[in-house]
Amino acid sequence: MIDTQIFQDKTAVYYTLGCKLNFSETSTIGRMLQEAGVRTARRGEKADICVVNTCSVTEVADKKCRQAIHRLVRQHPGAFVVVTGCYAQLKPEDVAKIDGVDVVLGAEQKKDLLKYLGNLQKHGAGEAHTSALKDIRSFVPSCSRGDRTRFFLKVQDGCDYFCSYCTIPFARGRSRNGSIASIVEQARQAVAEGGKEIVLTGVNIGDFGRSTGETFFDLVKALDGVEGVERYRISSIEPNLLTDEIIDFVAQSRRFMPHFHIPLQAGCDEVLKLMRRRYDTALFASKIERIRMRMPDAFIGVDVIVGTRGETEEYFERSYDFLSGLDVTQLHVFSYSERPGTQALKIDYAVPPQEKHRRSQRLLELSDGKLRAFYARHIGQTVPVLLERSKPGMPMHGFTPNYIRVEVPHDDTLDNQVVPVRLGDFNADASALEGVILTAGKERSL
Ligand code: SF4
Repeated sequence: MIDTQIFQDKTAVYYTLGCKLNFSETSTIGRMLQEAGVRTARRGEKADICVVNTCSVTEVADKKCRQAIHRLVRQHPGAFVVVTGCYAQLKPEDVAKIDGVDVVLGAEQKKDLLKYLGNLQKHGAGEAHTSALKDIRSFVPSCSRGDRTRFFLKVQDGCDYFCSYCTIPFARGRSRNGSIASIVEQARQAVAEGGKEIVLTGVNIGDFGRSTGETFFDLVKALDGVEGVERYRISSIEPNLLTDEIIDFVAQSRRFMPHFHIPLQAGCDEVLKLMRRRYDTALFASKIERIRMRMPDAFIGVDVIVGTRGETEEYFERSYDFLSGLDVTQLHVFSYSERPGTQALKIDYAVPPQEKHRRSQRLLELSDGKLRAFYARHIGQTVPVLLERSKPGMPMHGFTPNYIRVEVPHDDTLDNQVVPVRLGDFNADASALEGVILTAGKERSL
């Protein structure tokens, strides 16, 4: 039994690095502490507890985690410091050695955080308690409010794919999920709290159902029936798991938005094999074709890694040509990062850093052209935009169903509202289209 008396009048700060899943989980940890009586520290206030939720997707991510921990220890002298997340799971000993860290929690132990806080007595330098277990089995449900309009709903965790360059299966364990019934209930709760848009998150969400014998398609159909949800977005789904039935369902759904995020990683079959991905370029192209056939205006974001081991100049050029001819909206470009313990390290040819940078720049330019052309062909259309609060005096922004960012004049009464907007030209830095709100015969423009 945990004595929550010790948490009364205590304050905490939270720092999250990495993906939407981490943000969603930090929010669950925050709720757990709040229920135990811990208040979130105000800006500038010294906290009694610091929680750092880490990421380990690249070497740079590891470094950022260490810097964040040092910074929090400096800013909150004497605070009890808890570090969790992927870096803590993969390198618990390294994290435990950092001065000021008291507890290092593995993925499986996050849910028992209160227990590990003990009596909040600081440990000596280098004496942090570590609890990262190798075998990660449980599914910890999580649904966080990202901002005024959007909720991130975790539907799945872990991954069984073991791509050659990736450490996520070691950091997050095997694929597992909540039941459809429990996730539908969380979606209803989000609506009750005023949520208009729900983003489905996970590590490999298309693999949903491993632990419950259900399927991702069943989940999509069940969520589609939840009254009050204006919009769902599927955060990222492996191309081999994005079935035609899911694409066709989204095409006719009022609630699932015409917006896809699909990791390709390389547009060259030889490199895909080295990466141990479960599809080839032909399958990927067929998925894009299907989406375009059913939803010509869908936003399609594609992840690509440049400079992976074994990606020769010729392979990169093939990848570039493939991407250039693919009818997608935006490329999310990542530079390959060596991760200890991965199979990719056995591949001979390592791409020099300056060459990785050059390839990355070329793909970013290609992406800019695609995104600009996509935005430009929507100018003049009238579409529903879900608006989000902004700082006083600043334009409000929001997104169309197909994820075009739109700016409109500031009006607090329109926060979290879906309004019809006529799309105008690009704004000054070309990051959005300027919109004209069309309400009850009145037109409001920037
Ligand atoms: S599908 Fe591959 S890249 Fe994605 S999390 Fe799983 S192992 Fe990593």
